[in-house]
Amino acid sequence: MTIILGIESTAHTFGVGVVRNGKIIANKNKTYTTKAGGIIPMESAKHHCENKHEIYFEALDDAGIKEKDIDAIAFSQGPGLAPCLIEGMKFAKELVTKLKKPIVSVNHCIAHLEIGRLTKASDPVMLYVSGANTQIIAYESGKYRIFGETLDIGVGNFIDNFARYAGIGFPGGPTIEKLAKKGKNYIELPYKVKGMDIALSGILTNLKQKLEKIGKLNPAPPTQKLPAHLCSQIDKKQLMKNARNGIKSVNSSKKFRAKRGKNDREYTLSDLAYSMQETVFAMLVETAERALAHTGKKELLLGGGVACNSRLQEMCKIMCKERGAKLFVPEKQFLQDNGAMVAYTGEILFNNRDYIKSEDIDNVDIVPRQRTDQVEIKYK
Ligand code: AMP
Ligand code: MG
Repeated sequence: MTIILGIESTAHTFGVGVVRNGKIIANKNKTYTTKAGGIIPMESAKHHCENKHEIYFEALDDAGIKEKDIDAIAFSQGPGLAPCLIEGMKFAKELVTKLKKPIVSVNHCIAHLEIGRLTKASDPVMLYVSGANTQIIAYESGKYRIFGETLDIGVGNFIDNFARYAGIGFPGGPTIEKLAKKGKNYIELPYKVKGMDIALSGILTNLKQKLEKIGKLNPAPPTQKLPAHLCSQIDKKQLMKNARNGIKSVNSSKKFRAKRGKNDREYTLSDLAYSMQETVFAMLVETAERALAHTGKKELLLGGGVACNSRLQEMCKIMCKERGAKLFVPEKQFLQDNGAMVAYTGEILFNNRDYIKSEDIDNVDIVPRQRTDQVEIKYK
C-alpha cells in the first residue's frame, strides 16, 4: 500500500492532496482571491505561506492518516509563478526532512492530465485551459506532445484580464460566465486561429475598446488616481458607485449601454461576455477537433479551471458527438488547481521509481517555465 501526499502551489491555490493506491483520500485547497485586480505573485506566495500548515493538517485529518503513514511527498515543480512555486517546494522539503521520505517532482500540466484517468479516459486528446496555460495535449512516443497552444496569453488570464478591466476581481471567469448567460446580442469579435494555435491578445484589446465604449472602466478603487486618458471618458460618480457595488450595477443600468455604430444595436457587458465566450470557445473547440482528427484519437478530456465553464463543456460535447468521439470531464474539484492531482501523478512517478531520496533534496529545484513536452514520460 502506498500513500503519497501532493502539494500544489503554482499560482493562486495552495493545495494538499493525499492518494492511497490510486484513490483520492483527501483534497484540501485554499485559493487567493482579490476584490479588484489580478494575482500579485508575492501576495499569493504570502497566502500560501500563511495557509500551508492549516491545509496540510486538514488534509491529514480528512485522509484519516498520520504523518508517519506517508510514503513520499510530491510537489508541483513547474510551470508557475516563481514565488508561489518556492513556497510549495520549501514546504515539501520541510516535510521530507522531517519525515525522511523521498520527494517526487511533478509537472503541473501533466498532473491536470493524469487526474483525468479518474474519468476512465484511456488515451485522450486533452484540452487544457487554465489561467496561465492553454494547450492541446496528447501522448505520442514517450512524451505528452503539444498539438496546439496559445501564442500569447492563457485563456484564463485572458478572461481574468477582461474581467479586471470591467472592475471584476480575481478569478473573473465564474462572474463572466454568469454575465454571459444574460447576454442576448452576439457582438462580432476577431477570430484568431493560426493552424493548430490560437492568439488572444488582439481579441483582448478589441474587448477593452468595446468596454471603453460602454464606459464601464473601473480598474482602480475610487481613491486611486486614474490615468488621464480614462478620466475624460468616465462618469466619476458612476465609477465610485461601481467600485462600491462591483458588477451588480453594470448589467441593468442604461448608462452602460454603448452604440456599436450609427445604426447598430446597443450592447451591454453581458453581451460582450457572451460574445467573448462564443468566439474564444469556438476557437478552442476548433483546434481541439483538429487534434482529434490528426491523431485519430476518439477521446477528448477537459482540464484546467476554465473547463468548469458550462458553455465550453456544452460546445465540446456537441463537437464530440458530431465526430463520434467521447467527452470526459473530471469533477470540478479536479479541474481547477488542486493538491490531489499532484498526489495522484506523484504516485504514478513514485511507483515508477522516479523520485529523489531525502538525503539528496538539495538537487531538487523549481522549474517555472517547464513545458509539458520537455518531460519524459517513462511510465507509459
Ligand atoms: P486553474 O489555474 O486551472 O485553477 O484555472 C484558473 C482559471 O480558471 C482562472 O483564470 C479563472 O478565471 C478560470 N475559471 C474558473 N472558473 C471559470 C468559469 N466558470 N468560466 C471561465 N473561466 C473560469
Ligand atoms: Mg492549473
